[in-house]
Amino acid sequence: MDIELTPEERAFRDEVRAFLDQSLTPELREAGQRVTSVFVEPRYSLPWQKILHARGWAAPSWPVEYGGPGWTDMQRYIFQSECARAGAPGLAPMGLRMVAPAIMGFGTPEQKAYYLPRILSGEDYWCQGYSEPGSGSDLASLQLRATPDGDDYLLDGSKIWTTHAQFANRMFCLARSRFEGKPQAGITFLLLDMKTPGVTVKPIITLAGDHEVNQVFFDGVRVPKANRLGAENDGWTVAKYLLEFERGGGSAAGLKVSLARLRRIAAAESRMEDAAFRRRLAEAEIAVEAIEMTEHRVMSELSAGRNPGPASSMLKTQGTEAMQRIDELAVEAVGSWAAVDQREAREAGSNVEPVGPDHALQAMPRYLNNRAASIYGGSNEIQRNIMAALVLGLR
Ligand SMILES: Cc1cc2nc3c(=O)[nH]c(=O)nc-3n(C[C@H](O)[C@H](O)[C@H](O)COP(=O)(O)OP(=O)(O)OC[C@H]3O[C@@H](n4cnc5c(N)ncnc54)[C@H](O)[C@@H]3O)c2cc1C
Repeated sequence: MDIELTPEERAFRDEVRAFLDQSLTPELREAGQRVTSVFVEPRYSLPWQKILHARGWAAPSWPVEYGGPGWTDMQRYIFQSECARAGAPGLAPMGLRMVAPAIMGFGTPEQKAYYLPRILSGEDYWCQGYSEPGSGSDLASLQLRATPDGDDYLLDGSKIWTTHAQFANRMFCLARSRFEGKPQAGITFLLLDMKTPGVTVKPIITLAGDHEVNQVFFDGVRVPKANRLGAENDGWTVAKYLLEFERGGGSAAGLKVSLARLRRIAAAESRMEDAAFRRRLAEAEIAVEAIEMTEHRVMSELSAGRNPGPASSMLKTQGTEAMQRIDELAVEAVGSWAAVDQREAREAGSNVEPVGPDHALQAMPRYLNNRAASIYGGSNEIQRNIMAALVLGLR
């Protein structure tokens, strides 16, 4: 799809391209292209964030007063697309795109002054403590106990599936501060230091052999009341606000990069001669075009000052399912090479030779890891419930 850019937008795109050409080192590009897990590890994403921060581009969606570049929605879209095309490593969303908007919306002046510059520079690395062993889609049932104790709360219980808790020095979390009444009305939103005594992080190794999620245990963890975001028992309001930021931001540009890679693999493996394979590839391409159209529709709504409504749920389901479709085709194209365990060869700087062609290295771990995309950030079934209610009026 060709998008009409104004002369100013074309000039901006060229400026971004020139910056990416100059600033993306081969190591950073390789990290961006090799990543198979949900998020890029901070050893790659933080150096890139520092480069972007020096240019004033680390947080495209932040207001200027907090250090954002003051871009239009279209400029943000162009920037995101150009980063994906150039193979830049993605930045972790937990700080920049999740807790930061919540701090801007609900934080005290002291909290804003302390946390926001540290998020922007990458000095603080955040993880998200929402889900618990018994509470995922039904998040309001969460049980991590926050007991008031003088100027502090004492936390007891656990969080699970906490992405990058092993790297994070900060967590934003939801805790239960009232047990009677409506579950949503007894939750408090807290910001905590992961080095606080009583916090234990235990790894969960995924099917692909990666360590990116964890279970985090809390045993009498003392959190100052000054670290509360919003009012006591009103954390649900903050949590819902933050989830809007977690769900938005699908990217057809990233999917197009994956499609181009799939085409290269399919050509190298002589799969393009197979009409059935070509048809499924074409179906995936059509799905990605439709996603791009929807993204532009959302962009026009935002530019006109309107809320895009259920479109973020549409983009989440369509984007994750298109990605899974592309991953499936890549595994099929590389055939039996996909079954080889190549974890050691995939390590950055490893001198272990891959078994089979280079392009087979990532196919299976990408396929396995991306299964999670239709679960996290609100599962696709939950997104479909939202669309059924908001678009079809079903309850
Ligand atoms: C890789 C990965 C990273 C994650 N990172 C984080 C993180 O950093 N921080 C964090 O807090 N959480 C994280 N999560 C957790 C994630 O948010 C939850 O897994 C998700 O909300 C689903 O909850 P659940 O796993 O408890 O499944 P459940 O809620 O038990 O759901 C099980 C199944 O039932 C379906 N289902 C449930 N309710 C309904 C309904 N009402 N209607 C129709 N279908 C329904 C679901 O769609 C799903 O298919 C992560 C998860 C994954 C997989």
